Amino acid sequence: MLETAHALITRAAKRLGLGDEQIEGLLKTDHEHVFKIELGSSKSFDAYRVQHSNKLGPYKGGIRFHPEVDLDEVRALATLMSFKTAAAGLPLGGGKGGVSVNPKELKPEELEELSRKYARYLAPYIGPDKDVPAPDVNTNAQIIDWMVDEYAKITGDKTKASFTGKSLNNGGSLGRDAATGRGGVIALAQLLKHLGRESQDITIAVQGFGNVGSFFATVAAADHPNWKLLAASDSDAGVYSTEPLDAIELDKYKQDGGRFRAYKKEGVHIISNEDLLNLDVDVLVLAALGDAVNQTNYKPSQASIILELANGPVSEAAFNKLSERGVTIVPDIIANAGGVIVSYLEWVQNKESEHWSEERVNEELERYMVKASDDLYETAEKQDTSLKEAAFINAIRRLI
Ligand code: GLU
Repeated sequence: MLETAHALITRAAKRLGLGDEQIEGLLKTDHEHVFKIELGSSKSFDAYRVQHSNKLGPYKGGIRFHPEVDLDEVRALATLMSFKTAAAGLPLGGGKGGVSVNPKELKPEELEELSRKYARYLAPYIGPDKDVPAPDVNTNAQIIDWMVDEYAKITGDKTKASFTGKSLNNGGSLGRDAATGRGGVIALAQLLKHLGRESQDITIAVQGFGNVGSFFATVAAADHPNWKLLAASDSDAGVYSTEPLDAIELDKYKQDGGRFRAYKKEGVHIISNEDLLNLDVDVLVLAALGDAVNQTNYKPSQASIILELANGPVSEAAFNKLSERGVTIVPDIIANAGGVIVSYLEWVQNKESEHWSEERVNEELERYMVKASDDLYETAEKQDTSLKEAAFINAIRRLI
């Protein structure tokens, strides 16, 4: 993933005529905090916080708990965050954190201890005007609340602006939980408008029905009745039907702990994740993990549009092949920017001691997403590039 991120940045920077030294400057990270978190006497986990750039504002980006987290991945994700905040027009930099752990194997009290120890170690290096972490894969408002509490105990900070993605009664923002999915809906709507397809029926498959994909599907169902959800998957299987699926029903099923492999409904077929990637739909939404579509599983996708809701879900090799076939890929740093946009709005509310209505938050989110999308199409047309390269060009213009 780091190679892909570096290749994308280098290509866009070269198009802008930047020299080697400037490109190096865009790739290098400012600080890399690497440490270990011990739980009891027998468990030890590798932990990271990489701060890539604070040129435009405090470092900003999530913390993921996943067994495959390593320094290179966190570096790549931290780098992508700087380009995401820049492309979205936010006064923020980029960073990312992670712990190499499978949180599902921890007891609740171990998860709390891990979260608190993570915040305790990093307390000197983060803060409302230094680095503002947030949730990411397998982290949520509860985990962030523990971290905020630990940070406040150590530093005395009362603003709660040290982290975003907090729970609502702990300084969180309305609309933050749905923000990445909602932002994805806005990004897709903007693309369809750009293509003159906004009033057509659009069929959709969603890979990954977690924090991001489920909100994408439920917001889409509410706002765009002409979009038809035909398939959705979790980490081990998917559901598919030729008649539109009910996103709210699927969401309830997942919230109750259901697995798609055991989903039963007339007309609904259980398919593999691999099958989902190759369904005959208009739009493939990738809301699971990085490199979900790669050289190994790449098959000529049927979808003419791919929305990258996860971070880096299409590997560079797959990206090149898909682009050659004329597939339009809405790049992650725009498609999934809704999360960090509402994180920014949460941070502003904390700093100003304000609480905005959900309507106001969603309006602001829409404004940022529409502007970022307009800028994207303008640059792609002027420079005659892919949307991916255009997103990086826009970010680089703000970062140099
Ligand atoms: N983890 C999200 C992302 O990758 C949100 C980051 C944030 O809100 O700071 O964009």
